[in-house]
Amino acid sequence: ARQDAATPIVIVGHVDHGKSTLIGRLLHDTDNLPEGRVAQIVESSKKRGLKVEWSFLLDSLQIERDQGVTVDSTRIPFRLGDREFVIVDAPGHRQFLRNMITGAADAEAAVLVVDAAEGAQEQTRRHAMLLRLIGIRHVIVLMNKVDLLDYDPARIAETERAVAALLKQLDIEVSLFVPASAREGDNIASRSPHMGWYQGPTLTEALALVPAPSGRADLPLRLPVQDVYRFDTKRVVVGRIERGRVKVGDSLVIGTHGTVARVASIESWHTAPQISAVAGQSVAITLEPDVIPDRGDLLHQPGETPIRAARIRSRLFWLRQEPLRVGESFRLRLGTAEHQVTVASIDSVVRLDDLTEHPADHVPPEGFAEITLAASESILFDAFAPGTTDGRGVLVDRHQRIVGGAPLIGPAAIASGTKAIH
Ligand code: GDP
Repeated sequence: ARQDAATPIVIVGHVDHGKSTLIGRLLHDTDNLPEGRVAQIVESSKKRGLKVEWSFLLDSLQIERDQGVTVDSTRIPFRLGDREFVIVDAPGHRQFLRNMITGAADAEAAVLVVDAAEGAQEQTRRHAMLLRLIGIRHVIVLMNKVDLLDYDPARIAETERAVAALLKQLDIEVSLFVPASAREGDNIASRSPHMGWYQGPTLTEALALVPAPSGRADLPLRLPVQDVYRFDTKRVVVGRIERGRVKVGDSLVIGTHGTVARVASIESWHTAPQISAVAGQSVAITLEPDVIPDRGDLLHQPGETPIRAARIRSRLFWLRQEPLRVGESFRLRLGTAEHQVTVASIDSVVRLDDLTEHPADHVPPEGFAEITLAASESILFDAFAPGTTDGRGVLVDRHQRIVGGAPLIGPAAIASGTKAIH
């Protein structure tokens, strides 16, 4: 179902390394700017006595965004030939991080912007960690501001080596390093006249090489129950198919209680009843016998069973301003389900300066860690897998605030001396 959809990309990087400039430049050089925007940018740049500042474009988009109060992420569409992309952006650093961990950004590819003169900085590391955590599969590194290095290949290669080493340590496969100047327009949408030594693709050529999001229809079925309605004599189970397909006549296992029922019909509001539906579609089905699943139950086919565990190992990105400590309790949001969980242990925390893992008794704000969560009941889940919604847990506090992203990576062994919960 996503086959023809726009490819979502995120642009990340340390503050001031040129993200906004890049977005402006990219939209302009690919003829994707709305009418009148260019004149507006030239005008406001002149007012400040500057050369054209592409980052003003983003600021002007920002103003529109701020007026729409409920929107906390912007999707900036742009077209390259016959291919559609959408840049997923957010007004602030924290909102951006939140979008990334909740899947609101749902990006297929990322452009990591690094100031070639400055090299990787703190946020470069944090963003790279985040890209690994959420499993973005295609990372293009834009070595920006090479004009400041006089387009010198030796100096650019020096920064490139350092960034490559950092990403290798994180197991991030870099598709490409593109030496560029967002401000001057070198190697963004057109080949730079100053870098004859560079034979690789420009940024837009690199983006065109990113494979389109692949369909999830052929994977085993996962249908999280959103709601159950009563209509006349029958009950209708409503949800969005996360992956796989469902057909009339299929046997489905209902969540943790394991009851099996048959799909009697797939209802449709506007058209004749359907025979089957695939990933990405929302469906309303009736079951036979007329069992009643709960919101949050995960429907799947027999033999295609998810993991079932009450102690779960999770990779964590911690967002709250105060550190996380063992013993704290949260709600774990997983698909349409919510479970009560307690942090049973903090197994390791990543040290940001060298990206190595160490034991620690707390996770600092914006920290990365591996933790064990203990739930009061068994949870059905799939281990996190890049490019899917599998295992995408989010921790919320009692005020419903998102405090951390917690991709579930598998069941946790019960440490000796610890009392089992189930
Ligand atoms: P952001 O914080 O990552 O969004 O960075 P901005 O796009 O706001 O850029 C920060 C500063 O770097 C601005 O003054 C830009 O004009 C400047 N800048 C961005 N790209 C380049 C570039 O390719 N070359 C040079 N010399 N300056 C750039």
